[in-house]
Amino acid sequence: MDAVLVPFRQFVVKLHSRCDLACDHCYIYEHADTQWKGRPKAASGDVLPRTAKRIAEHARAHSLDTVHVVLHGGEPLLAGVHLIRLAAEELRRELAGVCALDLRIHTNGVLLDRRFLDLFAEYDIKVGISLDGDKAANDLHRRYADGRSSYAKVLRAIDLLRQPEYRRLFAGLLCTIDVRNDPVAVYDALLALEPPRLDFLLPHSTWDEPPLRPDGPESTPYADWLGAVYRRWEAQGRPVPVRTFDSVLRTLHGLSSLTENLGLEPADLVVVETDGTLEQADSLKTAYDGAPATGFNVFDHDFDTAARHPGMIDRQHGLKGLCEECRTCPVVQSCGGGLYAHRYETGSGGSGFDNPSVFCRDLLTFISDVAEHERMTTDFQAEPELLSEDQLDQLASGYGDAGTVTVLAAEQLEIGRELLATVWDRAADRYDAKPVWDLLTTLDTEAPETLDATLAHPYTRAWAMRCLDGDQGADLGGMAEIAAVAALRAGADETVRVPVRQGGVLRLPGLGRLLLDGQGTATVSGTADGFTATLDGAVTRVSWERGDRRWQPVRRIAAGADWTVALEDTDPQRDSHQWPVAERLGDAELAAWETGLTGAWRFVNRALPRYAGGVAAGLSTITPLQSAPPGQDVSAAARNAFGTVGIARPAAADTLALLIVHEFQHVKLGAVLDLHDLFDPADSRLYFAPWRADPRPLEGLLQGTYAHLAVSEYWRARLRELRAEPGQGQRIQAQLNQVEMEFVRWRQHTADAVETLAESGSLTPLGERFTAGMRATVAPWLDEPVGTGAVVAARRSMEETKAQWLANQAQG
Ligand code: SF4
Ligand code: SF4
Repeated sequence: MDAVLVPFRQFVVKLHSRCDLACDHCYIYEHADTQWKGRPKAASGDVLPRTAKRIAEHARAHSLDTVHVVLHGGEPLLAGVHLIRLAAEELRRELAGVCALDLRIHTNGVLLDRRFLDLFAEYDIKVGISLDGDKAANDLHRRYADGRSSYAKVLRAIDLLRQPEYRRLFAGLLCTIDVRNDPVAVYDALLALEPPRLDFLLPHSTWDEPPLRPDGPESTPYADWLGAVYRRWEAQGRPVPVRTFDSVLRTLHGLSSLTENLGLEPADLVVVETDGTLEQADSLKTAYDGAPATGFNVFDHDFDTAARHPGMIDRQHGLKGLCEECRTCPVVQSCGGGLYAHRYETGSGGSGFDNPSVFCRDLLTFISDVAEHERMTTDFQAEPELLSEDQLDQLASGYGDAGTVTVLAAEQLEIGRELLATVWDRAADRYDAKPVWDLLTTLDTEAPETLDATLAHPYTRAWAMRCLDGDQGADLGGMAEIAAVAALRAGADETVRVPVRQGGVLRLPGLGRLLLDGQGTATVSGTADGFTATLDGAVTRVSWERGDRRWQPVRRIAAGADWTVALEDTDPQRDSHQWPVAERLGDAELAAWETGLTGAWRFVNRALPRYAGGVAAGLSTITPLQSAPPGQDVSAAARNAFGTVGIARPAAADTLALLIVHEFQHVKLGAVLDLHDLFDPADSRLYFAPWRADPRPLEGLLQGTYAHLAVSEYWRARLRELRAEPGQGQRIQAQLNQVEMEFVRWRQHTADAVETLAESGSLTPLGERFTAGMRATVAPWLDEPVGTGAVVAARRSMEETKAQWLANQAQG
């Protein structure tokens, strides 16, 4: 197979090439590369729009779901509010409707003030700050040129970032290790600042410039240092995500690493300097002068050209790209040879990078220790705890932030992978599937992210379950469809044979469908700007940009700066909900969805902010359902389709918001139940669910209760907003009465159902804790004052449901 082009997903955009600090461990100014001296201080006004256009072009060409852009320096805040605004504006505008944009800035923090933070809030720019620990640790390196400490200013910035109005912007703290600092004191000092995430970086070094080892070259001070922090972090129940530790744990469990410092994932990061030149990762600056250079720039070259640079390709070969010692190393799946730059040695032959990391002993020791600890604790646990305690508690209370939902999504991806392998195992002899399977395994090695992105399509599991349920055991076409999409996303020079489905539909899950004349098997192959499909000698060429009248792409709607969602109206597998799905949406209906989703997302962010992060991280797709009967709302989640909900578009955006948060509760809880037993599955009793006239099994009651936490909160939020409206005329009063009644009804339903669950006697200890979390959320709402009329009306409605339920029971 030809080399697969790995698209970039991470873009480091340099806004300023100088810094107001003079840290003596800085890899930009103090290490081998000196190119910064000849660069313009600030990015020019034409570099930024051009960069944004190039990123959008790249995302479109590779059907990327999300790109990650870090505004960087030097010190990016030196660029000033105006230039940062320009960068954010251009990026948000160019990427709107193309893919989601995860926009961040990484700063030393000393200049961070409300002016900057208000700008970041406006453009949803998350802020990462470098801090090396407590004052003594930080002062070791992070000083001004005249020797003054930067610590007080950075702490002031972090305090500001922790204020409620900015807290959501806080991305985390980044600490460079110095083994002379006390590891526990450093960790404790960082943790005390309540960051949402921590990361510890090894100091950039090479075999030419080895790291400090106070006890001699044979010692492993970095393993010892990280080990001390790891043990404390474990003993505390992992109170905060730590990227280095989470990466080791994930790779030990067969998942991908979260950092280029570890693991075998291909590098997917490119740097745009202030003059528009394209460079490889900044860490290479530590190797030799000019090491990160590619010779390309954002004006004359697209990102595909940069992705084909030999230096980039070198870091995309996974295991094959490592030296002999690494390839045979027992921890290579987790270590991956360490950071590429740390392997460098002048005159070591080849590229100079064909070595183990200069931190090899430390990495081997630390990863082996973590693996041993994991093995011991897993042996003693009933089941591995994939969600942290904090994440479980977040979910139990009805919410779950972006990080928590991302863990659920990662686990669902693993389930999708396992199901794909099971389908292959069961039916390998029934279909000419070997070439497809071989292609999938190759893509998995060479471009795992593209395979992950394809498998993350919500209906992968629905397809696999249908195959395994027997009725459609021969539908291995789904495997070919997945392989074709992954190959197209990867830009691989491959031809895949894909069966054409009923009605001449060539299904490309997550991308769209092509309507062909006839049945049979089409061959699909990628082109520079799209793909071709050949059926019975007839060739159809589809360009991503221009399309084709027979090509129906999945359309993506940017509901807001931080949430882009696909409207899935092409996939035959989407018929997985209990309501009929809508046909392909016409332009008018599409526009109505866009308006509705934009309004709904505004409502969620404004009135239900605790649901927003989870929805943005986990709800990738909405499947339009056929119109609901008048006066009724129709929506449904599907247990086998994580990441999507089916909705018949309601007229009001607020109602759409309600349906989204309601159904996404089912999505989250289904994923939790895939990981943890919350109740005894042997309990076959039926329970009274206060909102229904028919009795429900325990799981149904739990699902309903969890969903109605969000429903109650929706009515609570509506009530709050209505009460705040100026003037309370007759129309508002009528609405108020109605909304009050709904709030009273749903909070009481939910609270009653929580107690039914608690009294069932069938909850596991974790289930009890989960139920307690739900109770803690709903119980205070019961005391919130409402009008007597609403209480009476709600009680009447509940009594009617109960009477109906009793009547049904009596009839058996
Ligand atoms: S703050 Fe960052 S860029 Fe500035 S000198 Fe220190 S390490 Fe280098
Ligand atoms: S521990 Fe050493 S030998 Fe093993 S993969 Fe890492 S750098 Fe290579």
